[in-house]
Amino acid sequence: MSGPAIKRVVRLALFGAPGVGKGTQAGTLEERLDLPHISTGDMLRAAIREGTAEGQQARAIVERGELVPDALISALIGARLEREDVQEGFILDGFPRTVGQAEYLDRTLEAGGRSLDAVINITVPETEIIERLGGRRVCPSCGASYHVRFHPSMVEGRCDACGGRLEQRADDASDVIRGRLEVYARQTAPVLEYYRRRGLLRDVDGVGRPEDVTGRIVALIAAPGR
Ligand code: AMP
Repeated sequence: MSGPAIKRVVRLALFGAPGVGKGTQAGTLEERLDLPHISTGDMLRAAIREGTAEGQQARAIVERGELVPDALISALIGARLEREDVQEGFILDGFPRTVGQAEYLDRTLEAGGRSLDAVINITVPETEIIERLGGRRVCPSCGASYHVRFHPSMVEGRCDACGGRLEQRADDASDVIRGRLEVYARQTAPVLEYYRRRGLLRDVDGVGRPEDVTGRIVALIAAPGR
């Protein structure tokens, strides 16, 4: 039930603590809006898998659930935002995560005569976040995401889409989840104020069926001046 594609230039950032559903929503919006989904987490995991210099620098930090240095992430995202496919808009997922990154994004977009249209802040109570992250299982082959209770695969431990063996992300281990939430509160939450002051922040309730959350986001984009 993804609904019809809506095509117009829109530059969005999906914001929120780990586990609020940014990746799920960005994946659906990518189809609905026909715009590229840019996830810095996915970019880092790919770099780690491929063993690039950035991946080697990031691996231990990502596994500990901490943030990689702004300089590294800015270089990755800066190169991505120069590519042709983002000129019609994009959906950022997991970036920016610090005020320094938000400032970098503003400067980069401004240099190309562009700016963000909205920052969608997805909110979910912490107890639910912990349950969501603890039960998440991912397919390292195709990137599909499952949940042991809320969205189990048909065959336990196997990806429905490609048959790959499902894994728990190292940073979804229960002791790391706590730390990631603390990192969010300390380093990432201040970005909310940065965008609130610029009038770009839109709060969305992230509880409920994923398609309902998508509907709330699409309604906000359709009424940007709200
Ligand atoms: P995610 O898939 O968005 O939950 O990101 C997974 C991990 O990648 C995070 O816990 C960080 O270690 C790293 N990461 C992703 N995006 C960023 C970012 N914008 N800044 C710093 N670290 C990031």
